[in-house]
Amino acid sequence: YQCRVNCLAEKNRKMLCILSFSLFADIFSCLFLTLCSTYVFMVQARGIQIRENVKNIGAQVLEQVVRGAYSINGTDYSYDFNESESDAPSTTYLPEGFTYLPSQVCPEKLPSMKGRLEVNMSEISLEEVERSLLEREPTMALGGFWKPKDCLPRWKVAILVPFRNRHEHLPILLRHLVPVLQKQRLQFAFYVIEQGGTEPFNRAMLFNVGYKEAIKDLDWDCLIFHDVDHLMENDRNYYGCTDMPRHFAVKLDKYSYMLPYNEFFGGVSGLMVKQFKRINGFPNAFWGWGGEDDDLWNRVQFANYSVSRPYGDLGRYMSIPHHHRGEAQFLGRYSLLRHSKERQKVDGLNNLNYSPLISRSRLFTNITVSLSRKLAPVADY
Ligand code: BGC
Repeated sequence: YQCRVNCLAEKNRKMLCILSFSLFADIFSCLFLTLCSTYVFMVQARGIQIRENVKNIGAQVLEQVVRGAYSINGTDYSYDFNESESDAPSTTYLPEGFTYLPSQVCPEKLPSMKGRLEVNMSEISLEEVERSLLEREPTMALGGFWKPKDCLPRWKVAILVPFRNRHEHLPILLRHLVPVLQKQRLQFAFYVIEQGGTEPFNRAMLFNVGYKEAIKDLDWDCLIFHDVDHLMENDRNYYGCTDMPRHFAVKLDKYSYMLPYNEFFGGVSGLMVKQFKRINGFPNAFWGWGGEDDDLWNRVQFANYSVSRPYGDLGRYMSIPHHHRGEAQFLGRYSLLRHSKERQKVDGLNNLNYSPLISRSRLFTNITVSLSRKLAPVADY
């Protein structure tokens, strides 16, 4: 009997031993698998990032090649950065505690402009942004019109934002940019020009519509053409009308903070109203993604203006990532760009008709407009 008891105890011990071994093996294999899948995930993510970078660099190289092949009316602009502010700005920012009077023009380099900004891309509702911005600045009028009270605004600036299907981006932009413009002591308002209908996106025509509607509200000094997904990284990137035409979005994260090509005029740019009128606005003929900013650059050059750019890292921007909602590329853009000069006279502010729907919300004016080719007729498109 004793032998049987001993034998059973021995068996149980062995069983226990086997059980704990298999438990240990399970935990170990589980840990191993978790580590492996994390590693595979990291490798995949890195792969996607590398693919994106290669795609962007590839696109930039292709851009240079195609641009070389299609020189605009025989005019090649040299690759030259002289037009940006290549030297450090001479005047410094005003010291903390500096006071100015309500009867004086607001300074340009205010102590409130501290430099590098936190960029918050987390999603937020429009209502939440309205609530927090109005709580901070109850003086914002309907439509988001604002001007400083402690000094006379140096510039009246209309911010034009072309828009379609990016509802989650707009509150992020407003949350980021409104406080910056208030710190810069500018008089401003936002115009969101939303494209209805089924035609491809026409960013340029939306800007023309935005301009025509904005000047009905106020005699704005200058216009900022702003993509909804671009967030500035430095509040010293001043949106007043100094040194215009101006290209603000010089260093984009998506282009590894390098200018993709010297004539790049996309993302965020600005012109004085009188300059915009003189160049006949944007072209209306660019349907789909790309080319309209290049054409604006050409128009500016043909009018003998030179483009300024913010110094150093002031022109850094981050773009809000979005997933495969890009418009189809406009492949005809290079052949249109070859005739920028002739088209400038006949396609722009002067051949555009439209019927907008206007509504004012707390932070901006919404201009909804259905676009089609017959709204901007040109003999030879
Ligand atoms: C397009 C521009 C665009 C640029 C950078 C060019 O091919 O024509 O509209 O801004 O690429 O992405």
